[in-house]
Amino acid sequence: MSQYKMWIAGKWVDAESGKTYPVFNPATETEIAQLPLGGEADVDKAVAAARKAFPIWSKKTQAERSQIVLKLAALLRENAKELGRLDTLEHGTPTKRAYSFASDTPVWFEWAAYNARSLMGHIIPVSRDTLVYLQREPIGVVALITPWNLPLLMIYQKLAPALVLGNTCIIKPPSIDSITALKLAEILEKVELPPGTVNIITGPGSPVGEKLASHRGIDMVAFTGSSETGKAIMSLASQTVKRLQLELGGKNPAIILDDADINTTAAAMARFQCGNSGQICGSPGRFYVHERVYDEFLEKFTAAMKKIVVGDPTDEKTDMGPLVSAAHRDRVEGYIKSGIDEGAKVILGGKRPTTPPMNQGYYVMPTIFINVTQKMKIAREEIFGPVACFMEKFNSDDKVIEMANDNTFGLTSWVWTKDIARGMRFANEIQAGTVQIGQARGSGPEFPWGGYKESGIGKEGSLYGLYEYTNLKRIQVDLVPPINR
Ligand code: NDP
Repeated sequence: MSQYKMWIAGKWVDAESGKTYPVFNPATETEIAQLPLGGEADVDKAVAAARKAFPIWSKKTQAERSQIVLKLAALLRENAKELGRLDTLEHGTPTKRAYSFASDTPVWFEWAAYNARSLMGHIIPVSRDTLVYLQREPIGVVALITPWNLPLLMIYQKLAPALVLGNTCIIKPPSIDSITALKLAEILEKVELPPGTVNIITGPGSPVGEKLASHRGIDMVAFTGSSETGKAIMSLASQTVKRLQLELGGKNPAIILDDADINTTAAAMARFQCGNSGQICGSPGRFYVHERVYDEFLEKFTAAMKKIVVGDPTDEKTDMGPLVSAAHRDRVEGYIKSGIDEGAKVILGGKRPTTPPMNQGYYVMPTIFINVTQKMKIAREEIFGPVACFMEKFNSDDKVIEMANDNTFGLTSWVWTKDIARGMRFANEIQAGTVQIGQARGSGPEFPWGGYKESGIGKEGSLYGLYEYTNLKRIQVDLVPPINR
């Protein structure tokens, strides 16, 4: 078992309280590490360090910062094998995905490093007597509060733009999945960052996250997590009117029209539903299938779900590992029970596997519900597990658009059709930050990602995502020569 320290002011430190807490391997339920139990005093220390580092880091040229961030990306790639191993150990990510993920995702730093050097300003043509131009500046000290579902990517998406643009950062990773973040700190130690430029505090949302959200020394909170926590952070951050960027939950509609290619759609959607054991904010949460293709789609989707190999994440053959924790498995099982109690029918899964080695670990089998209605809890709330909900069949495009939009979330969506004009009508009507027509692909640093409604505020990725970490300043210069005044 390993004993870890936190990374504050360029030093490895224990929590001020001296306390630690255990973390577990979700596939074996065994304790794998003790991490420092951070508290308010640790937040104060990290804020002081980040404030001290800000004038030094922000005054470097953009070229200098971009070069340091590119070096960081290269080191992350070199360490992908170890980062992937730790992701499997602490999160249960199947080995075959963990390594490729750890080696692909440093692209977020590369993309940010190159694009930060190309950000251009604007001149506003008011009159020949006045020069008005706009300048982007770093915001200051940014708190990055991240969730456990993709422990590294969730940090990279925020750290890359925040850091390269001159902000200093305090990362609060999820308490149950912080080991990869501490490995990241080991890598950060090898690049020329002034002490305190990036700090990592382990410990629970309350008090560490709460203290960051309310601290007067923090200028911005970039948060990914549940909508409930997002609302709590908004409220705490309002006391000092902090900048916020919030990536929250989703209950994403997948709409299958009667002209869709059913084989492709069923296979793609089953993969998406069970990717990362369904613990992805962009997973399909509600399936709306046209009555003419409902039976065929359900049959093919069920067959594709049955093919998903559930098992030990260290086994190369495994497609889907366990859920992240006992508490989260209880939550997913609570939703399955609530679906049954409210009258929906389970036609696949719904249970834990019983065959070894999966009789230990926090597993739930790929699950399909049919007869789900709009008002049921499993149709309205995010389950965050490998559970597909088939809603009532539809036969009208207008009606299905109305049903898809009848939800408090608005993160992403899919429309499966071969008729592009019909798909475009859905694209215009659906209330979500992303609409994919005839495909289900992941995101990358070039794409803006972010939700409508209770799915969040602001964007990650793309130039819009870079701008989130800047303040926009208007500068006006009098151009009238003194003699003409
Ligand atoms: P939580 O909201 O529970 O936690 C997210 C982070 O916030 C963790 O670091 C957590 O700490 C911290 N936190 C918890 N309570 C507070 C608080 N009161 N004040 C400040 N910080 C707090 O989310 P989960 O970790 O359970 O992640 C799953 C959720 O994340 C899902 O709803 C999912 O949809 C969403 N998500 C959204 C994405 C998007 O892009 N829209 C992407 C990925 C996930 P601790 O770990 O100690 O509890």
